[in-house]
Amino acid sequence: PKEEEEEEEKDAAKVALRIRPMSAAELAEGAKPIAHCVDQQVVVLQDPMEDPDDILRTSHSREKSYVFDMTFDSTATQETVYRATTRDLVTGVVSGYNATVFAYGPTGCGKTYTMLGTDSEPGICARTLADLFQAIEDASGDTEYEVTMSYLEIYNERIRDLLNPSLGCLQLREDASGVIQVASITEVSAIDADEVMQLLARGNRRRTQEPTAANRTSSRSHAVLQVTVHQRHRGGGLRHGRLLMIDLAGSERAAQMQNRGRRMKEGAHINRSLLALGNCIKALSRQASTKYINYRDSKLTRLLKHSLEGNSRVVMIAHISPASTAVEESRSTLAYAHRTK
Ligand code: ADP
Ligand code: MG
Repeated sequence: PKEEEEEEEKDAAKVALRIRPMSAAELAEGAKPIAHCVDQQVVVLQDPMEDPDDILRTSHSREKSYVFDMTFDSTATQETVYRATTRDLVTGVVSGYNATVFAYGPTGCGKTYTMLGTDSEPGICARTLADLFQAIEDASGDTEYEVTMSYLEIYNERIRDLLNPSLGCLQLREDASGVIQVASITEVSAIDADEVMQLLARGNRRRTQEPTAANRTSSRSHAVLQVTVHQRHRGGGLRHGRLLMIDLAGSERAAQMQNRGRRMKEGAHINRSLLALGNCIKALSRQASTKYINYRDSKLTRLLKHSLEGNSRVVMIAHISPASTAVEESRSTLAYAHRTK
Protein backbone atom coordinates (compact mmCIF):
# COMPACT_ATOMS: atom_id res chain seq x y z
CA PRO A 1 0.00 0.00 0.00
CA LYS A 2 2.91 2.35 0.74
CA GLU A 3 4.13 2.18 -2.83
CA GLU A 4 0.67 2.87 -4.17
CA GLU A 5 0.48 6.01 -2.07
CA GLU A 6 3.76 7.24 -3.43
CA GLU A 7 2.59 6.51 -6.92
CA GLU A 8 -0.46 8.67 -6.35
CA GLU A 9 1.71 11.36 -4.83
CA LYS A 10 3.74 11.59 -7.99
CA ASP A 11 0.65 11.66 -10.15
CA ALA A 12 -0.90 14.47 -8.15
CA ALA A 13 0.94 17.16 -10.11
CA LYS A 14 1.67 17.12 -13.82
CA VAL A 15 3.55 19.66 -15.86
CA ALA A 16 2.98 20.09 -19.59
CA LEU A 17 4.73 22.36 -22.06
CA ARG A 18 3.05 23.89 -25.11
CA ILE A 19 4.88 25.69 -27.90
CA ARG A 20 2.68 28.00 -29.95
CA PRO A 21 3.18 28.58 -33.71
CA MET A 22 5.49 31.39 -34.88
CA SER A 23 3.54 34.62 -35.03
CA ALA A 24 3.36 36.87 -38.10
CA ALA A 25 5.30 39.53 -36.19
CA GLU A 26 8.08 37.08 -35.32
CA LEU A 27 8.35 35.90 -38.91
CA ALA A 28 8.39 39.49 -40.13
CA GLU A 29 11.33 40.35 -37.92
CA GLY A 30 13.26 37.38 -39.28
CA ALA A 31 13.03 35.21 -36.16
CA LYS A 32 13.68 31.50 -36.52
CA PRO A 33 12.00 28.70 -34.58
CA ILE A 34 14.47 27.41 -31.98
CA ALA A 35 12.22 25.50 -29.56
CA HIS A 36 11.15 22.04 -30.63
CA CYS A 37 9.47 19.00 -29.16
CA VAL A 38 11.84 16.06 -29.52
CA ASP A 39 9.19 13.61 -28.36
CA GLN A 40 6.16 13.54 -26.07
CA GLN A 41 8.24 14.49 -23.06
CA VAL A 42 11.32 16.36 -24.19
CA VAL A 43 11.73 19.89 -25.51
CA VAL A 44 14.99 21.34 -26.79
CA LEU A 45 15.91 24.98 -26.96
CA GLN A 46 18.66 25.77 -29.47
CA ASP A 47 21.12 28.56 -29.11
CA PRO A 48 19.81 31.28 -31.43
CA MET A 49 23.39 32.05 -32.53
CA GLU A 50 23.79 28.59 -34.02
CA ASP A 51 22.69 27.80 -37.54
CA PRO A 52 19.10 26.59 -37.09
CA ASP A 53 19.33 24.59 -40.34
CA ASP A 54 22.18 22.51 -38.99
CA ILE A 55 20.20 19.36 -38.27
CA LEU A 56 23.27 17.32 -37.30
CA ARG A 57 24.26 19.50 -34.41
CA THR A 58 27.74 18.94 -33.05
CA SER A 59 28.57 17.93 -29.51
CA HIS A 60 29.58 21.54 -28.93
CA SER A 61 25.99 22.55 -29.51
CA ARG A 62 24.64 24.69 -26.75
CA GLU A 63 21.11 23.44 -27.15
CA LYS A 64 19.52 22.37 -23.93
CA SER A 65 16.79 19.83 -23.30
CA TYR A 66 14.02 19.88 -20.72
CA VAL A 67 11.75 17.06 -19.59
CA PHE A 68 8.00 17.32 -18.93
CA ASP A 69 5.09 14.97 -18.37
CA MET A 70 3.68 16.03 -21.73
CA THR A 71 4.75 18.29 -24.57
CA PHE A 72 2.72 19.91 -27.35
CA ASP A 73 4.17 21.53 -30.43
CA SER A 74 2.60 24.13 -32.70
CA THR A 75 0.56 21.47 -34.52
CA ALA A 76 -1.23 20.28 -31.37
CA THR A 77 -4.94 21.03 -31.46
CA GLN A 78 -7.01 22.44 -28.60
CA GLU A 79 -8.75 19.05 -28.42
CA THR A 80 -5.44 17.21 -28.07
CA VAL A 81 -4.23 19.50 -25.32
CA TYR A 82 -7.53 19.25 -23.45
CA ARG A 83 -7.68 15.46 -23.69
CA ALA A 84 -4.12 14.92 -22.57
CA THR A 85 -4.07 17.41 -19.70
CA THR A 86 -7.52 17.98 -18.27
CA ARG A 87 -10.22 15.58 -19.41
CA ASP A 88 -9.38 13.01 -16.75
CA LEU A 89 -9.93 15.54 -13.97
CA VAL A 90 -13.62 15.97 -14.72
CA THR A 91 -14.90 12.70 -13.25
CA GLY A 92 -12.94 13.35 -10.07
CA VAL A 93 -14.49 16.77 -9.62
CA VAL A 94 -17.98 15.39 -10.20
CA SER A 95 -17.32 12.79 -7.50
CA GLY A 96 -16.15 15.39 -5.01
CA TYR A 97 -12.41 15.86 -5.51
CA ASN A 98 -10.53 19.08 -6.16
CA ALA A 99 -8.46 19.81 -9.23
CA THR A 100 -6.57 22.79 -10.59
CA VAL A 101 -5.35 23.63 -14.08
CA PHE A 102 -2.87 26.48 -14.53
CA ALA A 103 -1.65 28.24 -17.65
CA TYR A 104 1.84 29.63 -17.08
CA GLY A 105 4.18 31.59 -19.33
CA PRO A 106 5.23 34.98 -20.68
CA THR A 107 2.68 37.34 -22.22
CA GLY A 108 1.86 36.46 -25.81
CA CYS A 109 2.81 32.78 -25.57
CA GLY A 110 -0.69 31.31 -25.57
CA LYS A 111 -2.02 31.07 -22.00
CA THR A 112 -5.38 32.61 -22.77
CA TYR A 113 -5.55 30.70 -26.05
CA THR A 114 -5.14 27.44 -24.14
CA MET A 115 -7.63 28.29 -21.41
CA LEU A 116 -10.31 30.29 -23.25
CA GLY A 117 -9.41 29.81 -26.90
CA THR A 118 -11.53 31.31 -29.64
CA ASP A 119 -15.09 30.74 -30.84
CA SER A 120 -13.93 28.29 -33.50
CA GLU A 121 -11.16 26.78 -31.34
CA PRO A 122 -12.53 26.69 -27.81
CA GLY A 123 -10.02 26.11 -25.05
CA ILE A 124 -9.85 24.06 -21.88
CA CYS A 125 -12.52 25.98 -19.95
CA ALA A 126 -15.31 25.39 -22.46
CA ARG A 127 -14.34 21.77 -23.09
CA THR A 128 -14.07 21.00 -19.39
CA LEU A 129 -17.43 22.58 -18.64
CA ALA A 130 -19.13 20.72 -21.49
CA ASP A 131 -17.78 17.40 -20.19
CA LEU A 132 -18.59 18.32 -16.61
CA PHE A 133 -22.25 19.09 -17.33
CA GLN A 134 -22.42 15.93 -19.45
CA ALA A 135 -20.96 13.83 -16.62
CA ILE A 136 -23.59 15.23 -14.25
CA GLU A 137 -26.34 14.44 -16.70
CA ASP A 138 -25.06 10.88 -17.03
CA ALA A 139 -24.71 10.39 -13.28
CA SER A 140 -27.07 8.17 -11.33
CA GLY A 141 -30.36 9.47 -10.01
CA ASP A 142 -29.57 9.17 -6.28
CA THR A 143 -27.65 12.39 -6.27
CA GLU A 144 -28.67 15.95 -6.95
CA TYR A 145 -26.07 18.24 -8.39
CA GLU A 146 -25.66 21.96 -8.41
CA VAL A 147 -22.85 23.79 -10.18
CA THR A 148 -21.78 27.22 -8.99
CA MET A 149 -19.00 29.43 -10.23
CA SER A 150 -17.03 32.49 -9.34
CA TYR A 151 -14.42 34.38 -11.31
CA LEU A 152 -11.80 36.61 -9.74
CA GLU A 153 -8.48 38.21 -10.47
CA ILE A 154 -5.51 38.76 -8.22
CA TYR A 155 -3.75 41.97 -9.18
CA ASN A 156 -0.99 43.43 -7.03
CA GLU A 157 -1.97 41.10 -4.19
CA ARG A 158 -5.54 42.40 -4.32
CA ILE A 159 -8.54 40.24 -5.13
CA ARG A 160 -11.23 41.61 -7.46
CA ASP A 161 -14.50 39.95 -8.34
CA LEU A 162 -14.65 39.79 -12.13
CA LEU A 163 -18.37 39.04 -12.05
CA ASN A 164 -18.99 42.14 -9.95
CA PRO A 165 -15.96 44.46 -9.91
CA SER A 166 -17.85 47.15 -7.99
CA LEU A 167 -17.39 45.07 -4.82
CA GLY A 168 -13.84 46.40 -4.62
CA CYS A 169 -11.02 44.56 -2.94
CA LEU A 170 -12.06 41.22 -1.40
CA GLN A 171 -10.48 39.50 1.60
CA LEU A 172 -9.46 35.91 2.19
CA ARG A 173 -11.00 34.21 5.22
CA GLU A 174 -10.69 30.80 6.73
CA ASP A 175 -14.08 29.14 7.17
CA ALA A 176 -15.14 26.87 10.07
CA SER A 177 -13.65 23.81 8.36
CA GLY A 178 -10.33 25.53 7.80
CA VAL A 179 -10.83 26.12 4.08
CA ILE A 180 -9.75 29.50 2.72
CA GLN A 181 -12.65 31.32 1.09
CA VAL A 182 -12.95 34.67 -0.62
CA ALA A 183 -15.28 36.70 1.57
CA SER A 184 -18.48 37.95 -0.14
CA ILE A 185 -17.47 36.89 -3.64
CA THR A 186 -20.26 36.51 -6.20
CA GLU A 187 -21.09 32.83 -6.54
CA VAL A 188 -23.54 32.18 -9.34
CA SER A 189 -25.45 29.04 -10.10
CA ALA A 190 -24.77 27.74 -13.60
CA ILE A 191 -26.93 25.44 -15.66
CA ASP A 192 -24.84 24.83 -18.75
CA ALA A 193 -21.41 25.34 -20.26
CA ASP A 194 -22.54 28.11 -22.62
CA GLU A 195 -23.84 30.18 -19.74
CA VAL A 196 -20.55 29.86 -17.88
CA MET A 197 -18.59 30.75 -21.00
CA GLN A 198 -20.63 33.91 -21.45
CA LEU A 199 -20.00 34.97 -17.87
CA LEU A 200 -16.35 34.17 -18.39
CA ALA A 201 -16.07 36.24 -21.56
CA ARG A 202 -17.68 39.19 -19.81
CA GLY A 203 -15.43 38.83 -16.77
CA ASN A 204 -12.38 38.47 -18.95
CA ARG A 205 -12.92 41.86 -20.54
CA ARG A 206 -12.69 43.32 -17.05
CA ARG A 207 -9.26 41.88 -16.35
CA THR A 208 -6.49 44.28 -15.58
CA GLN A 209 -4.63 44.52 -18.86
CA GLU A 210 -2.31 47.24 -19.92
CA PRO A 211 0.14 47.69 -22.72
CA THR A 212 3.70 47.39 -21.46
CA ALA A 213 7.00 48.52 -22.91
CA ALA A 214 7.09 45.28 -24.84
CA ASN A 215 4.17 46.75 -26.75
CA ARG A 216 1.79 43.89 -26.24
CA THR A 217 -1.32 43.61 -24.21
CA SER A 218 -0.07 42.13 -21.04
CA SER A 219 -2.25 40.51 -18.42
CA ARG A 220 -0.79 41.62 -15.15
CA SER A 221 -3.27 39.65 -13.10
CA HIS A 222 -3.96 36.04 -12.28
CA ALA A 223 -7.49 35.14 -13.41
CA VAL A 224 -9.10 32.38 -11.35
CA LEU A 225 -12.27 30.58 -12.46
CA GLN A 226 -13.68 28.46 -9.64
CA VAL A 227 -16.29 25.89 -10.57
CA THR A 228 -17.83 24.02 -7.65
CA VAL A 229 -19.92 20.89 -8.04
CA HIS A 230 -22.21 20.44 -5.03
CA GLN A 231 -23.64 16.96 -4.53
CA ARG A 232 -26.59 16.18 -2.36
CA HIS A 233 -27.20 12.49 -1.83
CA ARG A 234 -30.64 11.16 -1.18
CA GLY A 235 -29.38 9.86 2.16
CA GLY A 236 -28.61 13.45 3.14
CA GLY A 237 -24.86 13.55 2.58
CA LEU A 238 -23.27 16.63 1.06
CA ARG A 239 -20.01 16.80 -0.87
CA HIS A 240 -18.37 19.22 -3.16
CA GLY A 241 -15.62 19.06 -5.69
CA ARG A 242 -13.93 22.19 -6.86
CA LEU A 243 -12.19 22.79 -10.14
CA LEU A 244 -9.97 25.83 -10.53
CA MET A 245 -8.91 27.02 -13.97
CA ILE A 246 -6.27 29.70 -13.75
CA ASP A 247 -4.81 31.98 -16.39
CA LEU A 248 -1.71 33.24 -14.58
CA ALA A 249 -0.20 36.70 -15.00
CA GLY A 250 2.56 36.95 -17.61
CA SER A 251 5.74 35.48 -16.19
CA GLU A 252 8.14 37.83 -18.01
CA ARG A 253 10.46 39.27 -15.45
CA ALA A 254 10.12 42.86 -14.43
CA ALA A 255 13.85 43.29 -14.97
CA GLN A 256 13.48 42.48 -18.66
CA MET A 257 10.88 45.12 -19.21
CA GLN A 258 11.61 48.79 -19.45
CA ASN A 259 9.25 49.37 -16.62
CA ARG A 260 9.26 51.93 -13.88
CA GLY A 261 7.34 52.58 -10.70
CA ARG A 262 4.00 50.87 -10.61
CA ARG A 263 4.97 48.35 -13.25
CA MET A 264 8.02 47.34 -11.25
CA LYS A 265 5.94 46.77 -8.15
CA GLU A 266 3.50 44.64 -10.13
CA GLY A 267 6.41 42.66 -11.49
CA ALA A 268 7.68 42.01 -7.98
CA HIS A 269 4.24 40.80 -6.83
CA ILE A 270 3.85 38.59 -9.86
CA ASN A 271 7.29 37.10 -9.44
CA ARG A 272 6.71 36.42 -5.78
CA SER A 273 3.39 34.68 -6.34
CA LEU A 274 4.69 32.63 -9.28
CA LEU A 275 7.74 31.61 -7.27
CA ALA A 276 5.54 30.63 -4.32
CA LEU A 277 3.31 28.65 -6.67
CA GLY A 278 6.27 26.87 -8.23
CA ASN A 279 7.53 25.90 -4.79
CA CYS A 280 4.12 24.56 -3.79
CA ILE A 281 3.81 22.46 -6.92
CA LYS A 282 7.37 21.23 -6.59
CA ALA A 283 6.67 20.17 -3.01
CA LEU A 284 3.46 18.46 -4.15
CA SER A 285 5.14 16.36 -6.77
CA ARG A 286 7.81 15.14 -4.35
CA GLN A 287 7.60 12.21 -1.99
CA ALA A 288 5.49 12.58 1.12
CA SER A 289 8.44 13.14 3.48
CA THR A 290 9.28 16.69 2.41
CA LYS A 291 5.88 18.09 3.09
CA TYR A 292 6.28 21.56 4.53
CA ILE A 293 4.75 23.98 2.07
CA ASN A 294 4.58 27.69 2.68
CA TYR A 295 1.24 28.78 1.28
CA ARG A 296 1.41 32.06 3.17
CA ASP A 297 3.85 33.59 0.69
CA SER A 298 1.21 35.05 -1.62
CA LYS A 299 -2.55 35.58 -2.01
CA LEU A 300 -2.51 33.14 -4.90
CA THR A 301 -1.02 30.28 -2.91
CA ARG A 302 -3.17 31.04 0.15
CA LEU A 303 -6.26 30.88 -2.02
CA LEU A 304 -5.06 27.64 -3.58
CA LYS A 305 -3.96 25.94 -0.37
CA HIS A 306 -6.97 23.65 -0.15
CA SER A 307 -6.83 22.87 -3.85
CA LEU A 308 -3.15 21.98 -3.74
CA GLU A 309 -3.42 19.62 -0.81
CA GLY A 310 -4.81 16.22 0.01
CA ASN A 311 -6.42 14.38 -2.84
CA SER A 312 -6.28 17.30 -5.23
CA ARG A 313 -4.86 17.00 -8.69
CA VAL A 314 -2.88 19.73 -10.36
CA VAL A 315 -1.90 20.32 -13.97
CA MET A 316 0.39 23.15 -14.98
CA ILE A 317 0.60 23.95 -18.68
CA ALA A 318 3.63 26.13 -19.40
CA HIS A 319 3.75 28.10 -22.64
CA ILE A 320 6.58 29.37 -24.81
CA SER A 321 7.09 30.99 -28.18
CA PRO A 322 9.30 28.99 -30.56
CA ALA A 323 11.05 32.14 -31.79
CA SER A 324 14.77 32.91 -31.56
CA THR A 325 13.85 36.45 -30.46
CA ALA A 326 12.11 35.04 -27.36
CA VAL A 327 15.00 32.84 -26.25
CA GLU A 328 15.53 34.47 -22.85
CA GLU A 329 11.89 34.24 -21.84
CA SER A 330 11.67 30.70 -23.16
CA ARG A 331 14.76 29.67 -21.24
CA SER A 332 13.44 31.03 -17.95
CA THR A 333 9.99 29.52 -18.55
CA LEU A 334 11.44 26.10 -19.36
CA ALA A 335 13.68 26.28 -16.31
CA TYR A 336 10.76 27.24 -14.05
CA ALA A 337 8.39 24.59 -15.34
CA HIS A 338 11.07 21.92 -15.50
CA ARG A 339 12.12 22.75 -11.92
CA THR A 340 8.53 22.62 -10.84
CA LYS A 341 8.57 18.86 -11.41
P1 ADP B 1 -1.10 35.07 -23.46
O1 ADP B 1 -2.46 34.88 -22.89
O2 ADP B 1 -0.11 34.08 -22.93
O3 ADP B 1 -0.61 36.47 -23.32
P2 ADP B 1 -2.43 34.62 -25.97
O4 ADP B 1 -3.19 33.40 -25.62
O5 ADP B 1 -3.18 35.90 -25.97
O6 ADP B 1 -1.15 34.78 -25.03
O7 ADP B 1 -1.73 34.36 -27.37
C1 ADP B 1 -1.09 35.37 -28.12
C2 ADP B 1 -1.52 35.23 -29.58
O8 ADP B 1 -1.06 33.99 -30.13
C3 ADP B 1 -3.01 35.25 -29.76
O9 ADP B 1 -3.32 35.94 -30.94
C4 ADP B 1 -3.37 33.77 -29.90
O10 ADP B 1 -4.56 33.58 -30.63
C5 ADP B 1 -2.16 33.21 -30.60
N1 ADP B 1 -1.92 31.81 -30.20
C6 ADP B 1 -1.41 31.42 -29.02
N2 ADP B 1 -1.27 30.08 -28.98
C7 ADP B 1 -1.69 29.62 -30.16
C8 ADP B 1 -1.80 28.30 -30.74
N3 ADP B 1 -1.42 27.20 -30.06
N4 ADP B 1 -2.25 28.21 -32.00
C9 ADP B 1 -2.62 29.31 -32.70
N5 ADP B 1 -2.56 30.56 -32.21
C10 ADP B 1 -2.10 30.72 -30.95
MG1 MG C 1 -3.61 36.25 -21.82
